[in-house]
Amino acid sequence: MEGSLGVPFVDLIGQHRAIRQELDAAVRDVIESAAFVLGPAVEEFEGDFAQYLGVDHVVGTSNGTTALSLALLALGVGEGDEVIVPAQTFIATAEAVVHVGAKPVFVDVLDTTACMDPAALPAAITPRTRAIVPVHLFGQSAEMQPILDIARSRGIPVLEDACQAHGATYQGRRVGSLGIASCFSFYPGKNLGAFGEGGAVATSDSHLAARVRRLRDHGQSERYHHAEVGYNARMEGIQGAVLGVKLRCLDRWNESRRGHAAYYREWLDGSSVRLPAEAPGREHVYHLFVVRSGDRAELREHLTHQGIQTGLHYPVPLHLQPAFSSMGYREGSFPAAEAWAREGLSLPMFAELSRVQLDEVIEGVKSHSLVTETGAR
Ligand SMILES: *Cc1c(COP(=O)(O)O)cnc(C)c1O
Repeated sequence: MEGSLGVPFVDLIGQHRAIRQELDAAVRDVIESAAFVLGPAVEEFEGDFAQYLGVDHVVGTSNGTTALSLALLALGVGEGDEVIVPAQTFIATAEAVVHVGAKPVFVDVLDTTACMDPAALPAAITPRTRAIVPVHLFGQSAEMQPILDIARSRGIPVLEDACQAHGATYQGRRVGSLGIASCFSFYPGKNLGAFGEGGAVATSDSHLAARVRRLRDHGQSERYHHAEVGYNARMEGIQGAVLGVKLRCLDRWNESRRGHAAYYREWLDGSSVRLPAEAPGREHVYHLFVVRSGDRAELREHLTHQGIQTGLHYPVPLHLQPAFSSMGYREGSFPAAEAWAREGLSLPMFAELSRVQLDEVIEGVKSHSLVTETGAR
């Protein structure tokens, strides 16, 4: 395609350009104070993010996976316990369960939203179930009310995996404030991303918060006094500082993402791909814009050919990953998760996408629909 510059999948350099001076100043402050691990910048970010979410406490961690492990440990999950997780998510959701010695129990997702199917929960709950972990996948809240209702009736805590949904809402409340606790990742490509690794546990339960705070720092109750064996899962000062600056941009960035999604939706309506569903009562923040296609491989190749980058999130559902093969699940165990894995294609999505880039993607998808329909391939 002559004249086409192509469209990247994400553009972090573009994101930073507009706020470069603030970022530079925030990083410089950390260097000048030498508060490289935890410290004032992390504390300030924790306070700001707690207020943003509408929870009492945020505890910054080294990444989203450690946030999940520490939250599970603080909930008392361990050896011999079971934790229910969706079969279609990033592996970290289930990995954290294994890290604390418990067993992940997979359930299917909804064909509409790719989030945990609440109707699958009753059959998956056993006397050993110690937590349910819905994932707000792709930037949209899971079906929280039915999940919370089922969990409450059985006395099981709900831990939200909000690693893809910073700022998303469910019935007017921010995700991350709905369960007993929630976990966030600030991996650079997330809607709110650090200059490296970062994560957080959010909760309004002060005991849980205190336990996570202790666990992230070697189980210290005070300096060199260790109440229990913990971990080194602390957030770095530079990450706290950068996240503090970026948090002030999050709503604006999410609004842009939503605008791009609306534009894709308007112009891809009637094309060969199935567009992502927006469930009622939820504000989707489009961490990813995942369409479904019956001939995904060909569509992806067609787009790649035009310089349009796409992603697969995720091509193999967790129950069919070699890492979990010992659990004995087979193909067909979770049909909706398998369909998302087989047909999902993530189109470019980031706040700084231009109208020209969006049009290029739309043209790319539509021109593929045409070749398919006319049988010209
Ligand atoms: C990114 C992500 C995580 C893990 O976060 P890291 O910071 O990469 O450890 C967990 N769950 C989901 C759904 C994620 O997308």
